[in-house]
Amino acid sequence: MDMMDKGIDRIVEQLRKGGRNVVFTGAGISTESGIPDFRSQGGIWDQYRPVYFDEFMKSREARIEYWRQKTAFYHDLQKARPNKAHLAVATLYEMGLVEAVITQNIDGLHQASGIPDEKVIELHGSNRRVRCMSCGRISSIEEAHKRIEEGDPAPECECGGYLKPDTISFGQAMPEREVEKAIALSRTADSFLVVGSTLLVHPAASMPGYAREAGAFLAIVNLSETPFDTLCKVLIRGKAGEVLPKIVDRLKAG
Ligand code: NAD
Repeated sequence: MDMMDKGIDRIVEQLRKGGRNVVFTGAGISTESGIPDFRSQGGIWDQYRPVYFDEFMKSREARIEYWRQKTAFYHDLQKARPNKAHLAVATLYEMGLVEAVITQNIDGLHQASGIPDEKVIELHGSNRRVRCMSCGRISSIEEAHKRIEEGDPAPECECGGYLKPDTISFGQAMPEREVEKAIALSRTADSFLVVGSTLLVHPAASMPGYAREAGAFLAIVNLSETPFDTLCKVLIRGKAGEVLPKIVDRLKAG
């Protein structure tokens, strides 16, 4: 039995105990759906400069650049479907073995895989909707992109406010309710499974620390290093779409 198999067995053994199991995901769970992550080579930061929140609010030029970047992401997103890893997490949820999913992702793929909205805590918002930065009105991302295609490169709300995909930009406040929920879940988890995250972006990356401090079984499935690699009980350097279905298969095999 190789290291990966041993790790998978330990996760399966832990999940079989029941309890409160939390899955925490980052961009790495969605790369196999064709959405590039941020920090790998060829990732988003190799192609674009980040537009900070205060720039977005101050400059129309920055808003145009922001929407230009979001348009490229939107096209990837329109094509993206949940992959084997998302589907495995959804199966674990259906089996009653996962309490909730905390995600840094903004792609909505956990919901698309069948996990109910209220069980997916989106720490960085969602690219599936748009928010007015003045009146707070939520509107559809499709409508905003239609306006862009029709020649309005930085669409505005009826109230005159700036429309922005409902995601958290650099320099923008985190969504309080989601952060509170995520902290509470992490602190009460019996097991905490990280999938596809560098665990570098805070406060999201603090969650595994809260879980570990509270005595949870911490496991990581990720292709590259994380600051928690020496602190977790199980570390699997593997592809999410290969490892997670194996966990499900072994649980189902009894
Ligand atoms: P990241 O880009 O910093 O790290 C992704 C990690 O996943 C890397 O360590 C990489 O080695 C690993 N990885 C890539 N493919 C994998 C696979 N198939 N299986 C296992 N591991 C794999 O991502 P992050 O830590 O989530 O943080 C970046 C931020 O970017 C997040 O806050 C998120 O909001 C945003 N983001 C979201 C999406 C999305 O919604 N899909 C995509 C890009 C960035």
